[in-house]
Amino acid sequence: MANTKAYAAQSASAPLAPFNFDRREVGAHDVQIEILYCGVCHSDVHQVRNEWGNSIFPIVPGHEIVGRIIKIGDHVKKFSVGELAGIGCFVDSCRECPQCKAGLEQYCDVSMVSTYNGYEKDGKTVTYGGYSTNIIADENYVLKVSEKLPLHAVAPLLCAGITTYSPLRHVGVKKGDKVAVVGLGGLGHMAVKFAASFGAEVTMLSSSPSKEADAKKLGAHHFVLTSNKEELNKVKNTFDVILNTVSAPHDYGTYLELLTTNGTMIVVGAPPKASEVSAFTLIMKRRSIIGSLIGGIAETQEMLDYCAEHNIVSEVEVIDISDINQAYERMLKNDVKYRFVIDIASLKN
Ligand code: NAP
Ligand code: ZN
Ligand code: ZN
Repeated sequence: MANTKAYAAQSASAPLAPFNFDRREVGAHDVQIEILYCGVCHSDVHQVRNEWGNSIFPIVPGHEIVGRIIKIGDHVKKFSVGELAGIGCFVDSCRECPQCKAGLEQYCDVSMVSTYNGYEKDGKTVTYGGYSTNIIADENYVLKVSEKLPLHAVAPLLCAGITTYSPLRHVGVKKGDKVAVVGLGGLGHMAVKFAASFGAEVTMLSSSPSKEADAKKLGAHHFVLTSNKEELNKVKNTFDVILNTVSAPHDYGTYLELLTTNGTMIVVGAPPKASEVSAFTLIMKRRSIIGSLIGGIAETQEMLDYCAEHNIVSEVEVIDISDINQAYERMLKNDVKYRFVIDIASLKN
């Protein structure tokens, strides 16, 4: 068994604190990764605080994992010891349902196995995530990571990257499309980079006036402050696609009205409370609202390869594990540029 140092929360009101546990033995198809960096996603905050009502305690968060392979099982074909590798939001799925067969494992009809806050396929063993020194997973659910990019800045691609890349590809964003991104955080800043890289005319819709210059540096062509009703009115009926990454409860109608005829709002932010949607806002311009969950393994690999080719990484602030509780507080105040990433070396000492 691999003894593993980690940080866990013991309850929804407890801070994250040191925690030890054993990982399973490396099976024939498994690889073991020494974790080097792990990104901090707002979903970690939602789950550590049980905001979605499904948390299993103790909880070891972390699903933006990069590191080096330190051990492989006898039947492993894709990886060798010493290679870089990554793990995102899930570590297994049924492999047999139509979704799994189509490479959409995140929508597995049985259930994907979440990297943390889930159960292994035995239905009993709780999964623990990347705020830890090592992780073991079946090679089919592990991604190849390029040596070309700075590794700490690659970690957030495993969730924030694929969660924004996948829906922009799904709706076919192309050169000249008018795309708006709501919320400039971990997901939002990756959405701006991808949409701009696909050739879209990108507008940042943000509640933070201080983020305008950064949004433009990241690739946005326009910036609209969402608290300014006059500015919002000017962009009514204009966007082909809106990618909504907001983490807090809010009114979807405010943004749906900004879509042009046949426009689509993609919801990826997961606020703990529902928003009402008016039939008329949708009907009058044949607008759509869709959701999207991370991305499948093949598409995650495609995204990582695209990033290596186009030199796309996340903007990160690297922290020690002991700073994690403060990082959560800062994230809740929108004070992150634009993703915290834990240097896991700070957990090994
Ligand atoms: P984040 O870094 O905290 O960014 C969220 C952004 O939303 C903030 O930077 C802020 O941007 C905006 N915002 C926050 N509170 C707001 C409020 N009250 N009103 C309006 N805007 C507000 O979070 P993240 O890691 O990007 O995650 C965003 C959401 O996506 C979370 O709910 C997370 O659980 C979810 N998520 C979903 C998936 C999926 O597969 N669908 C995957 C990962 C994460 P401005 O300052 O620019 O307004
Ligand atoms: Zn995430
Ligand atoms: Zn399945």
